[in-house]
Amino acid sequence: MAGKRNIRELNLVELKEYFESIGDKKFRAIQAYDWLWKQHTRSFDEMSNLSLDLRKKLAEDFSLNAITVDLTQQSSDGTFKSRFRTYDGHLLEGVIIPTEKRNTACVSSQIGCSLSCKFCATGMMERKRNLDFDEIYDQVAILNQQSLDTNGNGLTNIVYMGMGEPLLNYKNVLKSIDRITASDSMNMSPKRITVSTAGVAKMIRQLGDDKVRFNLALSLHAATDEKRDRIMAINETNNIKALIEALNYFYEQTKNDITLEYVLLKGENDSLEDAKELVKVYRKIPTHLVNVIEYNPVYGIPFIKSDEDSTQTFTDYLVSQKVNVRIRRSRGKDIDAACGQLANKSKELAN
Ligand code: SAH
Repeated sequence: MAGKRNIRELNLVELKEYFESIGDKKFRAIQAYDWLWKQHTRSFDEMSNLSLDLRKKLAEDFSLNAITVDLTQQSSDGTFKSRFRTYDGHLLEGVIIPTEKRNTACVSSQIGCSLSCKFCATGMMERKRNLDFDEIYDQVAILNQQSLDTNGNGLTNIVYMGMGEPLLNYKNVLKSIDRITASDSMNMSPKRITVSTAGVAKMIRQLGDDKVRFNLALSLHAATDEKRDRIMAINETNNIKALIEALNYFYEQTKNDITLEYVLLKGENDSLEDAKELVKVYRKIPTHLVNVIEYNPVYGIPFIKSDEDSTQTFTDYLVSQKVNVRIRRSRGKDIDAACGQLANKSKELAN
């Protein structure tokens, strides 16, 4: 297997050159490209308008490392979680969250995560490897099909909020978005895509330099370095000041939406004092929204969600300060499909 080229790394011109080089017609490339990017075909065998010999030749010359669905679970609230298997046997998860107006897919960017945020289930797994761009793309294509099959509508939005830190798999994440938004593929608007980061200042700036067209969410979760250091180790090297500067740069370069995410942890970051600190940071960032997130319990992690009263006091204060705030109630909890619960636990259920 080693040494075979991933066919999805070839653009149409390169694919045409390949077909010419084996003495075939150039238009075969258009057919193959259509199978790969419009039909989302998972194997050369499925390319039924190519001759058997040609399919065999393609399989000899190239790999097609599609992910496959291993297990799908549906929550009582309509949320779907799918567990996928990569060509080399790793498991990862993606979720569809249907609401009245939207069908949002939440996709993973890495297998495991290297960041170890103290409250997150994925953070307890080690990082196994980055996902390739086509594996990220496959999640979106499969979830889109599942969404069409179950509620008749395709995906309207995509969030990179599954397993992993997208900005530590920068190239593949950007390339996957390139494919999702390409007119010869899924043709989604980048405005409907949000990449969420724990805060890698250098790469946030890089997004600005690359003039990306999708939106960004920062997992802030604490508004002073002292508190943020405690729950997110990444803050030691990417402190709040560095993140504020990077986000301002990103906004100057792109004018894309920035959301701040703030998960309320009881007794840790949910006091009125914490809300005041959050407003100070909010004022320094060109953000349009603070998403206050209900914490989802994770087995083995001591944090619990903020109680109703504290949540109310916290958000009331933000509202009184004219902060545009939205409370994001958790979805899919009964199947561990909620934020920060993705850690392949379904593996144990299935075995
Ligand atoms: N690494 C990226 C994306 C993955 S996490 C990031 O950190 O943004 C997606 C969001 O879920 C983040 O805001 C994350 O902090 C939050 N999250 C993690 N664990 C959670 C939990 N148990 N309950 C609620 N939100 C959680």
